Amino acid sequence: VWNDCLEVIKENIDSENFNTWFKPIVPLRVDGDVLTIQVPSQFFYEWLEDNYVPVLKKAIHTVLGATGRLEYSVVVDSGNRQAPPVAVNYPANTVASQTRRSNINNNGFTSDEYSPFTFKALNPQTVNSRLNHSYTFDNFVEGDCNRLARSAGLAVAKKPGVTSFNPLMLYGGVGVGKTHLVQAIGNEIKNNMPSKVVLYVDQNDFTSQFLNALQNHKLQDFQNFYLQVDLLILDDVQFLAGREKTQEMFFHIFNQLHQSGKQIIMTSDCPPRDLKGFQERLLSRFKWGLTADLQEPDFETKLAIINRKMQADGIEIPTEVAEYLAYSVDTNLRDMEGVLNSLIFHATLLKKEIDLDLAKEVLKNIIKEIQSDVSVDFIQKTVAEFFKVDLEAMKGKVKKREIVIPRQVAMYFCKRYTQLTLALIGENFGGRDHSTVIHALESVEDMMKTDANFKSSVDELGKKLKLRVA
Ligand code: ADP
Ligand code: MG
Repeated sequence: VWNDCLEVIKENIDSENFNTWFKPIVPLRVDGDVLTIQVPSQFFYEWLEDNYVPVLKKAIHTVLGATGRLEYSVVVDSGNRQAPPVAVNYPANTVASQTRRSNINNNGFTSDEYSPFTFKALNPQTVNSRLNHSYTFDNFVEGDCNRLARSAGLAVAKKPGVTSFNPLMLYGGVGVGKTHLVQAIGNEIKNNMPSKVVLYVDQNDFTSQFLNALQNHKLQDFQNFYLQVDLLILDDVQFLAGREKTQEMFFHIFNQLHQSGKQIIMTSDCPPRDLKGFQERLLSRFKWGLTADLQEPDFETKLAIINRKMQADGIEIPTEVAEYLAYSVDTNLRDMEGVLNSLIFHATLLKKEIDLDLAKEVLKNIIKEIQSDVSVDFIQKTVAEFFKVDLEAMKGKVKKREIVIPRQVAMYFCKRYTQLTLALIGENFGGRDHSTVIHALESVEDMMKTDANFKSSVDELGKKLKLRVA
C-alpha cells in the first residue's frame, strides 16, 4: 500500500524533497482504511503535516479510497544528541514511539496545537553558547530607562523556564542595551547553573544555519541541535519578517522547547503587536510570557555608563567631560561606546589628557550630526523650557515680570555664548533696540549678585548651554 502511495507522491513533488521527507518513512500497518507510517521524529511529523498534507491526502485517497486515513507513529529519540549535529541514527537507537493523527483526516483543517512532547534529560555537552562574557549584569547600569527589563531579566536568570516569564521578549530601539541584557542573562545562568545548555544566536545566524540545513537536507539535525538547549536566546527576531520557512522552523523549535519547560528569550526592535510579516501563530506565542521594553537612555544613566566604562579602563574623566558626553551623544549607546573607545585610545596610546577639547574633537569625528554651535534658537528654547514659560511670549513683547526675567536671561546668554552684536540680539527678541539689551544684561548681573537662588538657576542654565558649545 505504502509503495503505491509513494508512486503518487513521487509524481507530485520533486525528487530532492521526496528523498528527504518520504524515503525515511517506514510503513507499519494497514488497519482497514487506516494506514500507519513511522517517522523519525516529532519534528519530521510536524514538517510533513505542515507541508505535505495535500500530497499525502491525494496519495491516501487514491490508494485507500475517499475514507482512507493516515496515522503516524513518531519515534521518540533516545536522547543521543550532539553538537555539532551528526546524522540521526534511525531507527537503530530508537526506544519509543507516540501516535499522531494526520490532518488529512480532518478535511484539510490544520491544527495549530501540538500534544505535549517532552524530551529526555540530555548530558550537558559541548554546545558553544556563543556568549560574550563581557556582557554581564554587573556592568549593566540600571536606570529608569531599563529598570523593568533588567528586573525581568534577573528573574529569568534566577528561574529559567518559569511559564509566566517564558518567553521573555525584550524590545527597544538601536543601542538601548538589548543584546547586552540578554547576554547577561545567558552568562548569569551559565555561571550559576553550569549544567544548563545555553545558546545565543542572532536572527542572522539562525536563518543562515537554517537555509544551509535546508539545502543539505539536514533539517532534522538542525532541529535536534536546537532542541538540546535549556536556554535559547534569539536576538533581533524582527528580521525574521517575511521568512516563511525560517519562521516555521522557529515555530516548531519554540513549541517543543516551551513544552518541555525550556526558557526562550527574544529581542526585537518593537513590541510583538507591531511586528509585521510574521505568522499570526508565532506572534501569539511571543505574547505568551513577559514582554518588557528598554527605552532611550536618560542623562543620568548615560552618565553612569560613561563613568563605569572609564573606571573599568582605569581612566580618569573630568566630570565636565562626562556630562558633556552624556548631553551630547544623544543618538545611541553604541555611538557612545565608539566615542568612549576613541577617548580611551587618545588617552592611553597618544597620552593625551582627557579634557573638553579632546572630547569635542573626538565627538566631531564620530558623530557628524552633533550640534556644533549654540544658536540663538537653542538658547531661547532652553531658557524658556527651564523657566517653564511660553517660547513665543518670551521672544515677543509681553511685559509681565514672569516673562521679562527669562527674556533678560536669554539675552544675557546670547551675549555670552554667541558672536551676535547687541543690536542683532535685540532683533531676535521682538525687534528691541540695543539699549534694551544692555539694560537686560545689567539687570541679570545685578540680580545674580543679590539673589542666590537666581544666581544658581543662571549657573545651572549656563552649564546646560555650555555643554552644547563646540
Ligand atoms: P542593542 O542590542 O539594544 O542595539 P547593545 O546591547 O548592543 O544594544 O548596546 C550597545 C552598547 O551600549 C553596548 O556596548 C552595551 O554594552 C552598552 N550598553 C547598553 N546599555 C547599557 C547599560 N545599561 N549599561 C552599560 N552598558 C550598556
Ligand atoms: Mg542588539
